Amino acid sequence: MTTRGGLGLLGGTFDPPHVGHLVAAAQCLEQLELASVLLLVAGDPWQKSERGSVTPAFHRVAMTRLAFEGVPGMVVDDREVHRFGPTYTIDTVQELVDSLGEPPVLILGGDAAAGLGSWHRTEDLMGMVELAVVDRPGAQTGSLEDLVGNRAIHHVRMPPIDISSEDLRVRLARGGRVDGMISAQVIAYIGSHALYREPQ
Ligand code: ATP
Ligand code: MG
Repeated sequence: MTTRGGLGLLGGTFDPPHVGHLVAAAQCLEQLELASVLLLVAGDPWQKSERGSVTPAFHRVAMTRLAFEGVPGMVVDDREVHRFGPTYTIDTVQELVDSLGEPPVLILGGDAAAGLGSWHRTEDLMGMVELAVVDRPGAQTGSLEDLVGNRAIHHVRMPPIDISSEDLRVRLARGGRVDGMISAQVIAYIGSHALYREPQ
């Protein structure tokens, strides 16, 4: 099925947003010929809150807006932040299907795709979206076919960017430099709000 003119969804914690997110979203926009990509900032990331130190959502939304500002086709969406309770992608997808009338394209990095089986109502979700998987260094996506059955998976290539938010949090906590990995505006925001100073 074609994705041309469709809406891509790239969900994430964006804690903080980095160049890997930006290139992944931009390559999906281009290769799948999407009209736009929604960057869905997770509110209460139920699979991550065990870490106990997810940065407050309003900071992550602000940083994501700065990271994607001026990039054609990119729209930051904070609906999950305002929803009560844990973030389930299927709830957001349901809202979008209701308003769009066509299936959005769910974009996942390879690591996120590998974890899809542990998501809330994965099978139902798979029936509501087109699935696009973006290369990510080190990701194993072997079991994906079992989950999606004979539905098509769009494979999006990108130059490997071996950067993760987790790695950046560690660097920032040590006072290391992150220039080029995080946009200058986001680095300035992190500095002025004293984020990521404590070891994670
Ligand atoms: P963390 O280390 O905290 O998990 P992260 O770098 O994985 O952060 P997320 O916000 O968890 O970032 O990722 C959101 C989405 O972007 C996921 O689908 C993830 O696979 C994808 N993504 C993140 N970084 C990259 C990258 N470097 N290359 C390709 N895809 C990426
Ligand atoms: Mg991640």
